[in-house]
Amino acid sequence: MSGPWLGVDLGGTLVKVVLLRDGVVSERATVPTVRGGAPATVAGLADVVAARVGREPGIAGVGITIPGLFDADGNAVVVPNLPGSWGGQPIVAPVAAAAGRPVTLINDARAFGLAELELGAARGADTAIGIVLGTGIGGVVIVGGRLHTGAGGGAGEIGHQVLVPDGPPCGCGNRGCLEALARSGVIAARAGTATIVEAVEAARAGEPRARAALEEAAAHLGHGLANAVTLLQPERVFIGGGVAEAGSILLRPIEEALRRMAPLPPPESYSVVPAALGSWAGAIGAALAASGAGRPSGIGT
Ligand SMILES: [Zn+2]
Repeated sequence: MSGPWLGVDLGGTLVKVVLLRDGVVSERATVPTVRGGAPATVAGLADVVAARVGREPGIAGVGITIPGLFDADGNAVVVPNLPGSWGGQPIVAPVAAAAGRPVTLINDARAFGLAELELGAARGADTAIGIVLGTGIGGVVIVGGRLHTGAGGGAGEIGHQVLVPDGPPCGCGNRGCLEALARSGVIAARAGTATIVEAVEAARAGEPRARAALEEAAAHLGHGLANAVTLLQPERVFIGGGVAEAGSILLRPIEEALRRMAPLPPPESYSVVPAALGSWAGAIGAALAASGAGRPSGIGT
């Protein structure tokens, strides 16, 4: 890895930017996400990247996360948790044209997993499963010490496995997905609070409705992870994202439900751990993707 590499994590409210130099994060910055639709948001990204590359022409390449799926030409396919119409929206071409550097796209959960694999909680693991709890529920699968992205490039969508047939509608268009049952907005609504942070605070204070909401979410998350663990027999399960920062009040019941519903893998054969890199994992993973880490299993470009 030479570089340096620029990593850009596109979120609904903030764009996080890191510079990865010799495998070390040497700079972190945030800028507001430009609103007003997908073309405006991408133009804003292109401006941020072009400005940063302009100040440091040595930047060798740029990685960008999107909270959704994209095609082999670098156009968005579906981005359920960002406002605007994203289907077919070019991302790689306009940013590469503005920056004059190669641009690599990577799904945000896969970027989280790549960062945790190279520098965080999944380091050294041969087989691992990661889950990111937030506005949506992202996932990532590591097999043979590499990101596994599957034939279509979108493997790891743990949040879109159906747990309740004909259950509540999901942003992906299906019904009864894990994400539809346990994303942050659903937990807050069940808890009767405005935000997930308030739900966690209320649960910590012993408020019964909030405690029940967290317990129900943990049961669904444990169920989804149990299916994945039974299928893949990982040595490690790592849990990250803003909701996971609730800590043991959520992570312990998730692990209990997971172990109860996955009786086949020997209990000592895997550990369940919190992610290590916090909210910067996506941007770090984007920079790693730009550097070529995770290939040749195909992270998309
Ligand atoms: Zn879904």
